[in-house]
Amino acid sequence: MPFFVFKSYHPMNKFSDKKTLLSLLNKAKSVLILSHHNPDADAVGSSLALYFLIKKLKKKVTVVLPNAFPEFLNWMPASDKIILFENDKEKVKQILPKTDLIFLLDCNSFRRLGTDGLNELITNISAPKILIDHHRMPERYFNAFYFDDKASSTCELIYKFAKHLNWLNNIDKKIAQCIYTGLVTDTGSFKYDSVSPETMRIAAHLLEYNIHHTQIQQNVFDTYSYDRLKLVGYALSEKLRYFPEFKAAYIALSQKELKKFNYKKGDTEGLVNSALSIKDVQISALFTETDKLVRVSLRSKGSLDVNEIARQYFNGGGHKNAAGGQMTIPLDEVTKLFESIVQKLNL
Ligand code: 5GP
Ligand code: MN
Repeated sequence: MPFFVFKSYHPMNKFSDKKTLLSLLNKAKSVLILSHHNPDADAVGSSLALYFLIKKLKKKVTVVLPNAFPEFLNWMPASDKIILFENDKEKVKQILPKTDLIFLLDCNSFRRLGTDGLNELITNISAPKILIDHHRMPERYFNAFYFDDKASSTCELIYKFAKHLNWLNNIDKKIAQCIYTGLVTDTGSFKYDSVSPETMRIAAHLLEYNIHHTQIQQNVFDTYSYDRLKLVGYALSEKLRYFPEFKAAYIALSQKELKKFNYKKGDTEGLVNSALSIKDVQISALFTETDKLVRVSLRSKGSLDVNEIARQYFNGGGHKNAAGGQMTIPLDEVTKLFESIVQKLNL
């Protein structure tokens, strides 16, 4: 099978007009905000920022996430108000019939709500649905969109959404903290390709709210446990495979290895970027084995589109330079597959 290098991708955006968005909002009394399975800081930050913005309209707002977010986000304002579907399915089932508007954030398809039943519950309710997202190729079944796959983060889009609806005056310190957190994490502290002059202008405006940006960086990045740092050391010194001839590197961690370091969710975050930090590496991967599947994380430099590779081979998707997916074949077969893909890439 000839390998296809995806160069034909066209960026996409779709912004519903202010009138459509406001009419959906005006009709709603009870709003539900949802984001993806294994929520990251952009998912949590954008959900909470929108939560506060809509609360200011005197509406009932609930944030539901499919499963737990990383502990290092516990400091975020109102994070304790988030309902986790995995822990509170009954509560979510009670809220749904009373919901008359749904926002899906940082998540281009209801399938990314996970395999626990939330996807089906949401698909079957008739409340209108609005997508705010920056992932490529969103599903089309929404009533309104605020979508731009060139945006650095969903948090950036929440800011722009607020601006679009003339809500900028409603931004306060808490909202600024939430948005800033997603900006920082989804741009690797403002260093990815996705950073635009507008991203920087938004960050600058958020700093006007006297948010403690160094503290946010520390909260998010300097919270390693001793075990986590040892796991990172082990992964880099013992498990990093480098293929200079293919400009590729990967790390694969079995469940046994993860258990040895008392693995907790989030402990392998960033490892895939470390593999990419080798000078000539153009594509890196991290494979982590769980009970049911192998999680795949992909990163690339420049024009190499790992979103397409994730879609074609790893049941996933994401962005040009950062994507993910999952496989239900054994870990060693996943790594073999990756090796065969990079051989064909001609990097
Ligand atoms: P990470 O490697 O950090 O888990 O994910 C990188 C990017 O790819 C994130 O923006 C994430 O939203 C996206 N991503 C991760 N896993 C999946 C997946 O299974 N499906 C899709 N469509 N996107 C994913
Ligand atoms: Mn994001």
